[in-house]
Amino acid sequence: MTQEKIIVVLGAGAAGFFAAINAKEKNPKAKCLLLEGSRRVLTKVKISGGGRCNVTHNLFDPKLLVQNYPRGFKELLSAFYSFQPKDMVSWLEKRGVKLKAEADGRMFPESNKSSTIIDCLSVEAAKLGVDLQLGQKIKSIQKKDELFHLELGDGTVLKVHKLILATGSSPSGYQLAESLGHKIVDPVPSLFTFNIKHPFLKDLPGQSFEKVDLELSFEKSLKLKKYKQQGPLLITHWGLSGPAVLKLSAFAARDLHESSYQAHLKVNFLWQEQTKEEALLVLENYKKENRDKGLGKNFPFSFSKRFWCELLSCLDIQQEKTWQELSKKNLSEIAFFLTEMSFQVDGKGVFKEEFVTAGGVDLKEIDFKTMESRLCSSLYFCGEILNIDGITGGFNFQNAWTTAWLAGNSV
Ligand SMILES: Cc1cc2nc3c(=O)[nH]c(=O)nc-3n(C[C@H](O)[C@H](O)[C@H](O)COP(=O)(O)OP(=O)(O)OC[C@H]3O[C@@H](n4cnc5c(N)ncnc54)[C@H](O)[C@@H]3O)c2cc1C
Repeated sequence: MTQEKIIVVLGAGAAGFFAAINAKEKNPKAKCLLLEGSRRVLTKVKISGGGRCNVTHNLFDPKLLVQNYPRGFKELLSAFYSFQPKDMVSWLEKRGVKLKAEADGRMFPESNKSSTIIDCLSVEAAKLGVDLQLGQKIKSIQKKDELFHLELGDGTVLKVHKLILATGSSPSGYQLAESLGHKIVDPVPSLFTFNIKHPFLKDLPGQSFEKVDLELSFEKSLKLKKYKQQGPLLITHWGLSGPAVLKLSAFAARDLHESSYQAHLKVNFLWQEQTKEEALLVLENYKKENRDKGLGKNFPFSFSKRFWCELLSCLDIQQEKTWQELSKKNLSEIAFFLTEMSFQVDGKGVFKEEFVTAGGVDLKEIDFKTMESRLCSSLYFCGEILNIDGITGGFNFQNAWTTAWLAGNSV
């Protein structure tokens, strides 16, 4: 008599649930156990997107999609040709869940409730007969004679044919991966805001800019590269945030960690490739045409009056003056401030909407056609346990769905 195939998925987050569903669907006769260490499932799905769950992103070209992954872009390219946002949208739609895209491309359930996604995954897993067990802490895993021996919390040993690790960024998951011969790339935070103390920003929290140019650089002695980013910016009580900063934090996550979150951030508030010289020209022309007008109320560029007046005060220029009273030096200082001002980043803040870990299982050790380990056969990985992370906008969940789909279909 042939022995019943046993598949175990460790971790009941987005990746673990989706892997278990796909594995069981592909192997209806196998026993598929989804073991969760805590007492709750899909906790991050629940809180994600402010309780709305930003499931994926409305971007269906794999080549463009991978550009949103500071780590994993090379490996995910082939994976996205197998399962990408369009496939997740239709997978959910077939199960009665419709997604809608917002103007910035983020996709949410039409219900605006993360519980819709949780219910869909839970019902699907139960329908297929996935055996979900909560509070299952694995003490150790050993591979003997082609079987994984999982030592459970109560001391019993479960013998398993196929094992999928989907434990997210939990240290215990990394330890299990290491115990099976895998290298863990040091985990460091990604997606955070910048702490900046500067008199100019102090009175401007809440001010936002549709598009700015940012350039992040480090002390020369550290020999780290420069990072550039464009996009919306937000001034906060503690420094700078907004999509451009979050993107920069993700792409520079490792170097920022190495510099202990000390860096220089050059901001071009004018964007559109306006240099200091071009800004100066605009200011000089404005001065010619508005000589008798007051500085405080009249200015070129589409800034708020609050921003403009704060800038004047920071440069010690009285707003009661008229434009003709501005010296060449004043104009040059304003142009410099608008296009080349550098702020000292001194630490990182928390972006409450989403955060992820850069680092995890080394991607060189994984076959991305199947998500199987190259070092240990019948062992698979998916989701955030891998050294993959995306910028904010649904890309992190898409990594979970895609790698879980591949792992589930390959076991
Ligand atoms: C506040 C917040 C908001 C977010 N919002 C978004 C968003 O809107 N869009 C987006 O794309 N991404 C978002 N993310 C990121 C996204 O949640 C993660 O990328 C995604 O959840 C990763 O899925 P995962 O299944 O790999 O890991 P997880 O969701 O972390 O799941 C891992 C599971 O494994 C369990 N586990 C851990 N160790 C063990 C063990 N040893 N044994 C058994 N079980 C174990 C954990 O308890 C957990 O249930 C957000 C993250 C946070 C923190």
